[in-house]
Amino acid sequence: VIVGIAAETADGERRVALTPETCKKLVATGARVRIERGAGRGAAFTDAAYTDAGAEIVADAAAATDDADLVLCVQPPAPARIAAFREGATLVGLLAPQADAARAEAIAARGLQAFPLERLPRTTRAQAMDVLSSQAGMAGYKAVLIAAQLAPRFFPMLTTAAGTIRPSKVLIVGAGVAGLQAIATAKRLGAQVEGFDVRPETREQIESLGGKFLDLGVSAAGEGGYARALTDAERAEQQRRLGEHLRNIDVIVCTAAVPGRPAPKIVSAAMVAGMKPGSVIVDLAAETGGNCELTRPGETVDHDGVTVAGPLNLASLGAVHASEMYARNVYNFVSLLLKDGGLAFDWSDELLAKTVWPERPADPVAAVG
Ligand code: NAD
Repeated sequence: VIVGIAAETADGERRVALTPETCKKLVATGARVRIERGAGRGAAFTDAAYTDAGAEIVADAAAATDDADLVLCVQPPAPARIAAFREGATLVGLLAPQADAARAEAIAARGLQAFPLERLPRTTRAQAMDVLSSQAGMAGYKAVLIAAQLAPRFFPMLTTAAGTIRPSKVLIVGAGVAGLQAIATAKRLGAQVEGFDVRPETREQIESLGGKFLDLGVSAAGEGGYARALTDAERAEQQRRLGEHLRNIDVIVCTAAVPGRPAPKIVSAAMVAGMKPGSVIVDLAAETGGNCELTRPGETVDHDGVTVAGPLNLASLGAVHASEMYARNVYNFVSLLLKDGGLAFDWSDELLAKTVWPERPADPVAAVG
C-alpha cells in the first residue's frame, strides 16, 4: 500500500495527519509512506524525523498523493487536488463532504472510498479513533487560555500585601468533550467554575471536575448521546434564568453544539449588555455560528467593555499534541482497512459502513439475512 500525505493548505492549519510515531507503525505493516516536504513543520515534526521513521520525503503534494492508494489528511484537499488522485483511492480525514459541492463532486468523480472521520459512530470501540473528541479536548483547553489572556483579572484567588483578590467566576456553556476540558482547565487556573448543559448526565461530570452545575431547568437529551435542539418554550426558560445569572459572571466559554445544525444561540445581545464591563466571552462554537449572538467568527470585538472572541480552529493552536492524538486516531481507523499488505473493506464492520461517504446503499442480502 502506498500512503500519501500532502502538507495541509487551509489557512492557519498547523496540524498534520501523520506523525513520525504513526509513520513508523504504518511502515511496519509493509506500507510505503510518501510525505510532502515540510508537511509536519507546523506541528514541529521535521522531515528528518519522518525519514528516520521510514517515510520518503517528496517535493510537492502531487508527488505525495497522486498515485497513493491511501491519502491521509486533517482538512479536506482542494477539489482540484482530489481530481488528480488515483481512481478508487481511499481518503481519510475530516472531510466535511457536504460542506462544498465541488469537493463532493470531485470525490464521486474519482470513485474514492472517502471516510470522513466526523461520521464515525461514537461507540466504545470507536473511542480510540474519535478525532472529534481528541481535537475538542485541545480546543476546550485553548479556549480557556485565550479567555485568561483576554481577561483583565486573575483567575485564582490571591492573598497579597496589596489586599485580597477574589477569584474570577467562569461559566462554561455546554459540557461535552470540549466543555469538560474547559472546566478542568479553568479549575486548574484557580477560577470559580460553573457549567451547564441540557444533557442531565453532565451534572455529575461537571461536579467530578470540581465545577458547580448551574441548573437552568432544561433537559434535552437527544440521540446517540448528543443533545437535541430545544423547543421555543425550553429555550425561553433557559434564557430567562441565564440572563439573571450572567450579571455576576466574569468569563464565559461557550462550547454548546447540536450535531448537523448551526450552534444554538444561548447568550443573547441583551445578556451581554447586562454583563459587567471587563467581562470576557470566548465562543468556541464560532466555527458553526457561535453560541453568543454577538460572536463574529475569527474576530475579537468589544461591546461596551465586554470582549467577545470567536477564535477558529483552536485545535490547531496546540498542533503538536493535537496532531499526536489525531494521527493515533487515524492510524487506529486505518488499521481496520489494512489487511495482508493491502487495503480491504469489511462492510459488515459498522465503523466502516457508517463512516464511508457517500452512504452505501443498504445491502439487500444482509437485509434479508
Ligand atoms: P457536541 O460538540 O455536539 O456538543 C457539545 C455540548 O453542547 C454537548 O454536551 C451538548 O449536550 C451541549 N448542548 C447542546 N445544546 C445545548 C444547549 N442549548 N444548552 C447547553 N448545552 C447544549 O458534543 P460532544 O462534546 O462531541 O459529545 C457529546 C457527548 O457525547 C459527550 O457526553 C461525550 O462524552 C459523548 N461521547 C461519547 C463517546 C463514546 O462513548 N464513544 C465518544 C465521544 C463523545
